[in-house]
Amino acid sequence: MKCSECDSKPTMKKVAETIPYTIAGMEFQLKGLKVPTCPECGNKEIVIPAIKNLHMVVAEILVSQVSDLKGPQIKFLRKFMRLNQQQFHSLVSDNPSDAVVSRWENDKTSPGYPTLLLIKKLVQEKILEDQKEFERIADQIQKAETAAKLDEFLAPLSLKEFLNGQQECGNRKALSKFLTYTGSAYVQVRAG
Ligand SMILES: [Zn+2]
Repeated sequence: MKCSECDSKPTMKKVAETIPYTIAGMEFQLKGLKVPTCPECGNKEIVIPAIKNLHMVVAEILVSQVSDLKGPQIKFLRKFMRLNQQQFHSLVSDNPSDAVVSRWENDKTSPGYPTLLLIKKLVQEKILEDQKEFERIADQIQKAETAAKLDEFLAPLSLKEFLNGQQECGNRKALSKFLTYTGSAYVQVRAG
């Protein structure tokens, strides 16, 4: 990648950095991001990789906490499940007005406790579904690239813990290869 700011178009160098990232009203620190940086003017091209994995981790944090969900968090979880307001409404509420979802998301009202539990349950199901998809892809890679010795890192638990920032990955190169294959890249997350 070349610097778009400098006339001499120098090649950007990748520099490991910690990038703050705010989503669903929560601040995260993305550690170990390789940010292309211009050696001459310092221009940075920040691209957040593994966005799907990152959102899965955020969703897990939100549904595992005991507290209520705030408006931006409900909106985030709805989008995580890839549902529009109407679709989400039909799953979680028998209130005849689907404007109720919009009111939750704007913090005008809050879902009642049983509805809150139902939302969390649906999100957990979606997370499991996405994890299965990861496993399926991992399985394909294992079959295709036995020489790469990815087994250790393709264990779903290991990957999950790694993505949660609970575990350092012993072989970043192998993991990075796997995540690149899934359309993602290396990322480590901690809630700020
Ligand atoms: Zn530059």
